[in-house]
Amino acid sequence: MLNNLFGYFSKDIGIDLGTANTLVYVRGRGIVINEPSVVAVNQKTSQIVAIGAEAKRMVGRTPAYITASRPLVAGVVSDFEVTEEMLKYFIHKVHEETFSIFARPRVVIGIPSGVTEVEKRAVEDAAKNAGAREVYLVEEPMAAAIGVRLPVQEAVGSMIVDIGGGTSDIAVISLGGIVVSRDLKIAGDKLNEDIIRFARDEFKLLLGERTAENIKIAIGSAYELPDPLEATMRGRDLITGLPKEIIVDDADIRRAMRHSINILVNAIKATIEETPPELVADIMHRGITLVGGGSLLKGLDHLIHEETRIPVRVAEDSLTAVVRGTGIILEDIDSLKNVLVNTDYEKVLPI
Ligand code: ADP
Ligand code: MG
Repeated sequence: MLNNLFGYFSKDIGIDLGTANTLVYVRGRGIVINEPSVVAVNQKTSQIVAIGAEAKRMVGRTPAYITASRPLVAGVVSDFEVTEEMLKYFIHKVHEETFSIFARPRVVIGIPSGVTEVEKRAVEDAAKNAGAREVYLVEEPMAAAIGVRLPVQEAVGSMIVDIGGGTSDIAVISLGGIVVSRDLKIAGDKLNEDIIRFARDEFKLLLGERTAENIKIAIGSAYELPDPLEATMRGRDLITGLPKEIIVDDADIRRAMRHSINILVNAIKATIEETPPELVADIMHRGITLVGGGSLLKGLDHLIHEETRIPVRVAEDSLTAVVRGTGIILEDIDSLKNVLVNTDYEKVLPI
């Protein structure tokens, strides 16, 4: 009864706690927050100086004692307290406009599939401390599959590959569960690092991370492009210490990222090899769906298709698939309970 009352006043929210971007969906309103998962901390005082977009703007522009940290950087909760502050900030930000003190929301949170029990607990506690009344966790590939309307509850195999900033999640889903999955720390950030290393090794040019990311987005590709592209890399000459510019083309950047992309494609192939034959037949027929910011890399769908011989499509709005999935779950928690992560830790009995 009391819970129903709370439910009446509260605005339930869904959160995609991504390594690069955090998105928040509010029931009845849609996606209201889409900000980088960055927290700026003053190391002298251990105080948080800024969170989200404001913190990201500070990266590389602050005095040395202010550091920008990404608490979920490898797809795991490396810094519990900072994660908690970040969750609090986002939950409070959407709740400021709500008037009632009863308004403690139910919260659905997408978490990367590789996280440990301890980390799941940490996320759940963080959300509770941030004011959530009930917390439901869902593995991100499942949330993404729901977000792009794959038939996750049916007895048919769906394959989803979510390429984010810190991690890539590969999963085969059937009957409301993840049948086979893999997660690897090769994703968008690694490709930026590859470009930074390439510039250093080939041209003695020191690039900033933002610059590398911009080049990846502008001319990066996984497959030869019909028309070549060029971009100017601006950085610092490692020998003279002075600014320097180098023009590179898509073939250079493809070569820089090739090794990482191969690891990703091989992980997809290995996951298919582990998938039961009936489900492989479904996937052959229905295709592989790519989501996450990394799936926007030019030609990645083409390469995966060529390597697996399975149709591949990049989901529309691939950056918002997970949070839209949490929103769909919020609308219908009861019938989607079976897809959620079991968080009744204490109640789990030894078999
Ligand atoms: P996460 O879920 O881990 O927060 P996202 O799904 O938000 O990550 O994706 C972020 C990653 O996507 C970043 O590494 C970013 O560089 C990359 N990205 C975004 N747009 C593009 C694009 N057009 N081409 C290639 N990579 C992209
Ligand atoms: Mg993600």
